Amino acid sequence: GRDILRHNHATQTEFGGDIVWMEPDELAAKYPWMTTSDLAAGCWGRTGEGWFDAYCLMQSFRKQARRRGADYIDGEVVEVLRDGQQVTGVVLKDGRRFGCGQLVNAAGTGCSKLAGMAGLEIPVEPRKRCIFVFDCRDAADINASCPMLIDPSGLYVRPEGEFFITGIAPPKERDPECWDFDVDHSLFDDIIWPGLYARCERFEAIKVINAWAGHYAYNLLDQNAILGRHTDVANFIFANGFSGHGLQQSPAVGRGIAELITTGGYETLDLSVFGYQRIRDNAPVLELNVI
Ligand SMILES: Cc1cc2nc3c(=O)[nH]c(=O)nc-3n(C[C@H](O)[C@H](O)[C@H](O)COP(=O)(O)OP(=O)(O)OC[C@H]3O[C@@H](n4cnc5c(N)ncnc54)[C@H](O)[C@@H]3O)c2cc1C
Repeated sequence: GRDILRHNHATQTEFGGDIVWMEPDELAAKYPWMTTSDLAAGCWGRTGEGWFDAYCLMQSFRKQARRRGADYIDGEVVEVLRDGQQVTGVVLKDGRRFGCGQLVNAAGTGCSKLAGMAGLEIPVEPRKRCIFVFDCRDAADINASCPMLIDPSGLYVRPEGEFFITGIAPPKERDPECWDFDVDHSLFDDIIWPGLYARCERFEAIKVINAWAGHYAYNLLDQNAILGRHTDVANFIFANGFSGHGLQQSPAVGRGIAELITTGGYETLDLSVFGYQRIRDNAPVLELNVI
């Protein structure tokens, strides 16, 4: 993985990311609790990185949108109205109907169903991801210095208050389309715990104190977002398929889609690489190192 890491590091620093390249001895000096003997190198985001409360971010967006005049209407879309190559409105479960000039599909894991209501298709399905919170006694030093740590195995772990939070994508054969929210505890026992121990021996004695499951809106083609207009039904706009990295992309996507609607094109960032045409062409946009 060293070459991939090198490549990603070069890209990140080229665009101004304050990312530090670290050799194994530097990692060992900075994180004495970490097993580094099997590592080729590491990257550390020195500034401008971190984690945040996702729900709080979303509520902040909503609050600001309302302040600027957006109306939120509670209800479930059960029908999308179409007239030839145009969508003209939606029908809610309670019977209310709304006309539209443009329709943005922002339905998360429900996006394929919503697209289907307009007779359109996108290769996105829900895939379950479980998160575990664990306690590790006498680990205050680890807690104080541990960044958001992404292991070469794909396992991630970071402090969560006095505890830690961890997760991993299940192996392909254990990762079907899934709508339930049952936590897969065997994932922790079989894969996560051994992985945590391999990276830090003091994680041998830990206790899971909370766990939950959510769903990625998983883009089967390339695990990247599908953004912008449908190639035929041009007033149907996608903001879908974020596959586990939609929060960090949401400010850019929101702005990009707003620009597309109000000015007819992307202004701040060119997001056209994520367009629907690539779905039609079966031409994946692959990213290196996705968790
Ligand atoms: C366990 C887990 C960890 C994650 N970690 C990260 C991370 O570290 N970084 C990151 O960037 N991203 C992460 N993500 C991904 C991120 O949460 C998503 O990409 C993001 O929330 C998607 O936002 P969205 O607005 O597209 O969809 P959602 O937030 O799912 O919103 C879609 C909304 O549409 C509504 N809806 C659906 N169908 C209909 C309908 N027919 N009518 C009306 N409303 C409808 C839903 O009720 C929902 O309110 C994670 C996801 C999970 C599950």
